[in-house]
Parts: sequence; C-alpha cells; structure tokens
Amino acid sequence: MSLNLQKISVVGAGLAGSECALQLANMGFDVVLYEMRSVKQTPAHKTTNFAELVCSNSFGSLSEVSATGQLKWEAEKLNSYILKAAKDCAVPAGQALGIDREVFAEKVTALVKAHPKIEIKNEVVQSLDDVPRPAVIATGPLTDEPLALSLQKHFGDDFLYFFDAIAPIVDAESINTDIAWKADRYDKGTPDYYNCPLDKEQYNNFIEEIKNARKIEPKHFETTEFFEGCMPIEVMVDRGPQTLRFGPMKPVGLTNPKTGRYPFAAVQLRQDNKEATAYNIVGFQTRMAYGEQIRIFRMIPGLENAEFLKLGSIHRNLYINSPKRLNKDLSSKNDPWLFFAGQITGVEGYFESTCIGLLVAQFINQKVKDQPFAPPPRDSAFGSLLEAITDPFREKNFQPTNINFALIPPWPENIRDKKEKKQKQIERARLALDSWKTNTVDQI
Ligand SMILES: Cc1cc2nc3c(=O)[nH]c(=O)nc-3n(C[C@H](O)[C@H](O)[C@H](O)COP(=O)(O)OP(=O)(O)OC[C@H]3O[C@@H](n4cnc5c(N)ncnc54)[C@H](O)[C@@H]3O)c2cc1C
Repeated sequence: MSLNLQKISVVGAGLAGSECALQLANMGFDVVLYEMRSVKQTPAHKTTNFAELVCSNSFGSLSEVSATGQLKWEAEKLNSYILKAAKDCAVPAGQALGIDREVFAEKVTALVKAHPKIEIKNEVVQSLDDVPRPAVIATGPLTDEPLALSLQKHFGDDFLYFFDAIAPIVDAESINTDIAWKADRYDKGTPDYYNCPLDKEQYNNFIEEIKNARKIEPKHFETTEFFEGCMPIEVMVDRGPQTLRFGPMKPVGLTNPKTGRYPFAAVQLRQDNKEATAYNIVGFQTRMAYGEQIRIFRMIPGLENAEFLKLGSIHRNLYINSPKRLNKDLSSKNDPWLFFAGQITGVEGYFESTCIGLLVAQFINQKVKDQPFAPPPRDSAFGSLLEAITDPFREKNFQPTNINFALIPPWPENIRDKKEKKQKQIERARLALDSWKTNTVDQI
C-alpha cells in the first residue's frame, strides 16, 4: 500500500472522526473523510449528520473536581472542535454538559463540510484494503459488518464486543407538570430536571412489571456482556428489586414541593433540545419490547400520558483489544500507518471517543514529521485515558472504560479528605498537560 504523507484518510464522521479530521486539516494536512450514513444507516443513528449522538444528550460533568471535567479542561486547552461546538449548543443540565443533539450535529457537519482541506466521500468502506494510508479508522461501536470482518481478519480473533442500550425520549408537552416538578438534586441552583415521584407501592409495582416485561433478546450466538455505565434497567432489576432506587431512581436530594419530603423513588428527565420540547429519561436505557416500554413507563406518575419521540433499544458494540493489538500511538501492530480512534479503541463515551480522535491527530502529526513519539503525560487525564487502552497489563479481559479517577495516578501522600486528594490530582494533571502543550504540541 502506497503512502501519501500529506493526505490522510479518516473513516467515520462520528465524534472521533470529525474531531480527528478537523484537527488534521487545521494542522495543514489534506483529509479524505469517509462516511456511510447517506448511503447506509447504522442501527442506532437516525440522520446523515456527522457527530450524531445516538442516546443520551450529555457529555458528562463539567465539574472542576471530576475526571470528566478535567478531560474537558484539557480538551479545551488542546482546541477540541467538538467540545467547542458542544458548548455552543448547550442546554441547561445542572453540572453536566447537556447538548441540543440536532443543532450540535448540524453545526459539526457544517464545520467539517466547509473546511477547504477536507474532502468528503459518502461511501461505505468495505475493507481496510480500500483505504489509502495513512488512515484512521473511527467507525465506532456500530462499525458496518463487512469492514468489521476486514478488521477481524487484520487482528485475528481479538475483536471484542459488548452491548449498549438506548434510553427513551419523551415529548415535553406530554409530561404532567401537576405531578412532575423541576429541580436539581440538593437544590444546587440549577433546577433543570423534571422529577417524577413514586411511593413504595408504585415503585414495587413498577419493578414487578419490568421483571415480567417482554425483552428483545440478542441473537443466539451473542452473549450479553453489558457495559456497567450503560446498563439496561431490566438488568439492574435482575440484580435486586432495590437496585434502581440506589441507581437512576435515587430519590435523595429531591424534595417534592407537594409533600416537603423526598419521595420513595424518583425518575428524572433531562432536557434533550434547545427548545425544551424533548426530554430523555435519565439512565433508563432498555431492551424491553416497544409496546412494553410504553405501557410500563406510563406507570410513572407524571408520565401517564407520555408521548415517546424515541423508544429504548439495544445494540452490539464492537471494540479492539487495543492493549494487545495497537501500538502506544494507536496504530496497528500489523500496520504502522493504520491508526484507530474513538470508541473502537476501547474507550467508552461520547467525549472520551472525541478525545481519542484529537490525540490520534497529534500522533499522526508527530509520525509524519518524523518526531519522536511524545504521548500526553501520564498524570494528565488524556495520558491516563491513553494508558487505560494501551497498557499491556490490561490485555486479558480488556473492558471499555470511561475516564475516572481510578485511571489517574494516585496522589503519593496520604490525604484523608477525598475532595482535597482529587483536587491535588487535578492540579498536577493541569500542570502536566500545560507543559506537554507548550513543549510538544505547540512545537511540532
Ligand atoms: C446503542 C448505543 C448507545 C450509546 N449511548 C451512549 C450514551 O448515552 N452516552 C455516551 O457517552 N455514549 C454512548 N454510546 C457510546 C457512543 O456511541 C460512543 O461513545 C460514540 O458515539 C463513539 O464515537 P465514535 O466516533 O467512536 O463512533 P460514532 O459516533 O458511532 O461514529 C462512527 C461513524 O462511522 C460511520 N461508519 C461505520 N462504519 C462505516 C463504514 N464501513 N464506512 C463508512 N462509515 C462508517 C458511522 O456511520 C458513524 O457515523 C452508545 C453507543 C451505542 C451503540
């Protein structure tokens, strides 16, 4: 396969692919971006727009003392285009970065299409052999089947998968606001969520119905490994009748104005678009049959007349055993000019996927310019995320991961106060990232 070091192929205009293409183009490379959705849809996407969010409309916490907040701080320093677009399309969501998904995807699509250095090819890439190198594969968890087979051939049997489920979205006008009230947990001053209260009897009946509901089962050859952070509610119910009350239906901090007390359980709905005409049910991803979802979710007080704009569903989610099959710069051990970005590398989540797209652009820039490989520092959130998907120690039972404090190196001294400890880790991460940016990123 011939190399054209000034022209980079990027396959997949999702979150990682769009970020990567924009970064490369702004570094001065010509980019050919392949996207299939105007020819063929994935089972979860609904539009032909780039960077479409398939489930929740949240990029996670913006809090300064959270690992996801730190990842955003670093991405902002590194000029993430996706983060900027997300912030421009933010909807009220308390501490989280909630996004109007349609406006966001339209904005990213326009940005990519308008870039003079990016050529778009609306086609389904069938095989790795069809893509000129250097290439970035960013086809995500729903990589189209023939390409998935080509990847399997390239890597051998270390191509893994798990399941992700989607939560339903409700028409705002159909929420009964005589029952559901707007508040945030512990009245932090951002009353952005609708809250639906359940008493003990209502909760128990609801759990019983979920238990007995008809579910869409995976095909017989697929084992159902669910990702912990995106677990269907019925799988949580199988773990015990109180699991939801300690998870997405946690009532604490939600004082019902009608009773002055916390309810026995609560369902929260988060604004899904700028116009506030749609709300998603937080944490209610599910694989219950459609009819069962409508019937059972209408048992929730405040949602008795809910109109569903989208119902929950389940999808297979592919990823590579990256610690075994990829180099530290996220190129294949079988082909040094074939890079991978996004969720397919084993990170989990919209924003983590975006960040890997950004990183791969940096690595390609270093490699093309014959610079020594200089990854982000281990103490930074970017460095920690990279380590999580490339550390050979993890190759056995490799599982996708979100960014979290367990991935960031611990603070060496014993500090009792957890918040203070996290604060120290964050300060260290910021210094490390700043120094990498100044001494490496800005120098190449
Ligand atoms: C059902 C489901 C629910 C999820 N829910 C959430 C959630 O609530 N929150 C969260 O943070 N993350 C969620 N995720 C994970 C989320 O999809 C990813 O984190 C994120 O979208 C991955 O970004 P990406 O760029 O790697 O892939 P994607 O955003 O999926 O982009 C991949 C792109 O590649 C294109 N493509 C695929 N194959 C080909 C081909 N052969 N040729 C050309 N183009 C191709 C696709 O059309 C797509 O546009 C969910 C995933 C799934 C599958």
